[in-house]
Amino acid sequence: MTLPVHGLSFDVEEAFHALNMWSATPPESWAEQPTRVEAVVDDILALLAEHDVRATFFVLGLVVERNPQIVRTIIAAGHELASHGFSHRMAGDLGPAGFEQDVVRARGLLQDVSGQPVDGFRASTFSIGRGTRWALPIVARAGHSWDSSVFPVRHDRYGDPAFPTTPVHLALRDAPPLREYPLLTRPLFGRNWPAAGGGYLRLLPFAVVDGALRRAARAGQAGVVYMHPWELDGGQPRHDLGRLRTLRHYHGLERMRARLQRLLERHRFGPVGEIPVATGSALDPESLPD
Ligand SMILES: [Zn+2]
Repeated sequence: MTLPVHGLSFDVEEAFHALNMWSATPPESWAEQPTRVEAVVDDILALLAEHDVRATFFVLGLVVERNPQIVRTIIAAGHELASHGFSHRMAGDLGPAGFEQDVVRARGLLQDVSGQPVDGFRASTFSIGRGTRWALPIVARAGHSWDSSVFPVRHDRYGDPAFPTTPVHLALRDAPPLREYPLLTRPLFGRNWPAAGGGYLRLLPFAVVDGALRRAARAGQAGVVYMHPWELDGGQPRHDLGRLRTLRHYHGLERMRARLQRLLERHRFGPVGEIPVATGSALDPESLPD
């Protein structure tokens, strides 16, 4: 049996765009904050080239406006370009009309700068889930053919525990079909727990994400993992965020690069949008229980 190729993805945003940072760096201040994302993306691209791995880069519209060359560098290195929306506000905060505007604006900008169609989307902070499933048809109507915004877990900010944990075709109302690639989880004590990289790779033992990838591969399933460039930027300026947010944002930054390297050595990875989705009946997300 050939092992499945897992999806590797990077949400390309500045450290100050992360929700945990908003108390110290509110959106009104973003234009004046120093930009650091480009150098880290260059480092990631070099690391991926060393391991001969292609990945997906979900680039935030605000980053494209300020650093348009980042898009061209990512494409020139052979990776998949996708959209992380424009403003980094969560779907539930934007509401349907605001979300649609945000998604359409980001895709248009990415296509203008890259000169190629943009098929994939990931919402800020995995904010499509229970209570915001209305966002999926909007993503599809904006022209995307796949999405990777749903984290099928219970969490204080996001998540949709009723959602399938493996890639699935969606049948949406009044919208074209969409492929959904949920973020990697692992079952324990009758629940699905997040194991998709990012903070879970930084804060928990390496075996959590590593084990979830091996478990998925044994079951013939591709898992989707993510990381932020700022999680690999140990030199970023430190802000006073309070205890929980300090832990969530800064803990483990210094070991993240080595952990990414280990994952690259131990698993097969490729772009998210190239993961095959098993055919069969498509899921109507509106039919899921709340
Ligand atoms: Zn993000």
